[in-house]
Amino acid sequence: MSEPASSPGPAASPSRGAQAVATAPLGPLAPLGPRVGFGFDVHAFGPGDQVWLAGVCVPHTQGVVAHSDGDVLLHALCDALLGAVALGDIGQHFPDTDPQWRGAASHRFVTHCLGLVKARGYVVGNADLTLLAEAPRLKGHRDAMIARVAELLELPTDAVGLKATTTEQMGFTGRREGLAAQAAVMLWPAPVAPTVSPEL
Ligand code: MG
Repeated sequence: MSEPASSPGPAASPSRGAQAVATAPLGPLAPLGPRVGFGFDVHAFGPGDQVWLAGVCVPHTQGVVAHSDGDVLLHALCDALLGAVALGDIGQHFPDTDPQWRGAASHRFVTHCLGLVKARGYVVGNADLTLLAEAPRLKGHRDAMIARVAELLELPTDAVGLKATTTEQMGFTGRREGLAAQAAVMLWPAPVAPTVSPEL
């Protein structure tokens, strides 16, 4: 999967929504204490033989229809990060009409969103992700997914939760038409760098 050479960023987007996000103040937020964010994403199954989930390539009988790599877990995580710091959604930062994001690896989106969180004066405390799908199952991939998300968020692995559920054969996921994901994050104000004490 090829990746665009240029770095991601809202300023690179031509869409009106992205411009609105780009002009939003990116300095530290008022000290409101911890903040939460929630994200949700869906992709339909399509031709292919693999699915990207939480930054891990999982062999499957189908692929997903997507402009990027279609990683629903990382897309939901991005929206959770953006929502927590009130900076719009993933579609505003990485429009699916922008050719530079065609086939893009979604870990790049997460890294960009984490940068925005830091610019807002926050750090991620923990993340909790849920995959809704009949297939593929996470068995055999879960540890790698948790490790990858932890790496992307600069967290220990015990700060990343990952669950999966079916929808009991109901709805679009139950009919195996696609898969969905939810993500929640907790942010904490970044620690203030300690001042250097004068000589005692
Ligand atoms: Mg998506």
